[in-house]
Amino acid sequence: MTSSIHDRAVLHNGVQMPWVGLGVYKAEDGDEVIQSIKWAIDEGYRSIDTASLYENEAGVGQAIAESHVPREELFITTKVWNTDQGYGKTLEAFDASLKRLGLDYVDLYLVHWPVPGKYKETWKALEKIYHEGRAKAIGVSNFKQHHLEDLMADAEIKPMVNQVEYHPRLSQEDLLLYCKKQGIQLEAWRPLLKGEIFEEPTLVELADKYDKSVAQIILRWDLQNGVVTIPKSVTEHRIQENIDIFDFELTNEDMTRISALNQDKRNGADPDDPEFYKPFE
Ligand code: NAD
Repeated sequence: MTSSIHDRAVLHNGVQMPWVGLGVYKAEDGDEVIQSIKWAIDEGYRSIDTASLYENEAGVGQAIAESHVPREELFITTKVWNTDQGYGKTLEAFDASLKRLGLDYVDLYLVHWPVPGKYKETWKALEKIYHEGRAKAIGVSNFKQHHLEDLMADAEIKPMVNQVEYHPRLSQEDLLLYCKKQGIQLEAWRPLLKGEIFEEPTLVELADKYDKSVAQIILRWDLQNGVVTIPKSVTEHRIQENIDIFDFELTNEDMTRISALNQDKRNGADPDDPEFYKPFE
């Protein structure tokens, strides 16, 4: 049971990953992202999730450089964007990300989406980066089970993490079970559904029962399901609230009630939608 902010998920290569991280999608590069990360670190966050797509890696790097926490205590994730997929382009994109971040390694490098026909070559580049020690762990994002099976059929290294859309409207129980069996850590993006589920009566009732916010109830549900979570906020009190989830425990019955809110409903793109990949062909 995850009962302390210091607890870590242990990836299949032994690397330790914080259960809660700060997502910085749409946090503006410069003051906004820098200030958010500083607040987060002060509140005990040690993990930051960015991507080249978010165009704020420079600000993330500046916040890290200015932080009082040693680099080895931080867990920095970035991702290769769809237009950069393929072996050579991924290696170049990784170098560019490291440079913008001002780092000599990241903790986790992810394939952002399973771009058809490209993700296997992209993965070979990630394996090379891993062997060079420039990413302490490598993984994928938005991979369904069939993508994982296809990738692993040729891969030398099994992904350590799969970061997918995951919240009470899309609980992906089959994928979670499959990843657990494979030793692949599932990580939730858009865990709060951008706040669009905060009026849901069951969640409001549970928030009242535990004297917690709806956001905290959802994030605690992630942890008790064994899912790493990366809520985004640029507001100090919300950043604080989103990691204050280690002092209570949902009962099994309440966990089941939250899981029953599933509607298999995506907010973002379906990783199998060919239309989504057209701009990247
Ligand atoms: P989210 O579910 O984390 O929602 C963030 C929004 O919810 C905030 O902008 C704010 O409006 C609201 N919010 C946050 N905390 C709150 C609180 N305590 N009370 C009230 N409202 C609150 O959505 P997201 O940013 O899309 O997802 C989180 C992170 O996941 C991203 O920042 C990014 O790092 C990652 N992500 C990855 C992918 C991917 O394809 N791999 C896609 C989307 C997001």
